[in-house]
Amino acid sequence: MPSDSTCIFCKIINKEIPADILYEDAHYLCFLDIHPISPGHALVIPKNHSRDILDAAPKDREGLLAVVAKVAPAILKGVHATAFNIGINTGKPAGQVVFHTHIHIIPRQDEDGLKSWDAHKIGIKELQLIRAGISPHL
Ligand code: AMP
Ligand code: ZN
Repeated sequence: MPSDSTCIFCKIINKEIPADILYEDAHYLCFLDIHPISPGHALVIPKNHSRDILDAAPKDREGLLAVVAKVAPAILKGVHATAFNIGINTGKPAGQVVFHTHIHIIPRQDEDGLKSWDAHKIGIKELQLIRAGISPHL
C-alpha cells in the first residue's frame, strides 16, 4: 500500500500519531479534524497515499463517497446536526494544506453562523465564454 513517510495522514493511517478515528476499513479511514469548522468535522481519506483527488487512483477516489455516505448520518446524529457540507480542497490556492487526498465532512445547523459559498452574479455572455474555454479540454 503506497505510503509517504513524511505525510501526516499516512502517519495517522500507520498509527504513528494519534487521531480520533470514527471509521476504518481495509482501504479508508475517517477521523475527526483537529481544527474543526464545526463539531463533528471529519476527514475521509484513502489509505493509499496520493497528493490530491486528481492524483488518486480511480478505485481509491471512487470509494470515498461511499464512506462519506456511511459515516455522515452517524456524525449528524452524534453531534445533533441537521445537514452537512462536503469539501475537497485541491491545490494550495484552494486551501489545501495536507497533500494526502481527503474529503471534509462539515456538519451544519440552522443559523450556525458559518458562511456557505461566496457566489456572485455573472452575465450570460461571460458564462458562454467560460464554457468555450473549458469544453475543448474535455
Ligand atoms: P486541507 O486544508 O483541505 O488540506 O485540510 C487539511 C485538514 O487536516 C485541516 O482541516 C486540518 O485541521 C486537518 N489536520 C491536520 N493535521 C491533522 C491531524 N493530525 N489530525 C486531524 N486533522 C488534522
Ligand atoms: Zn499520505
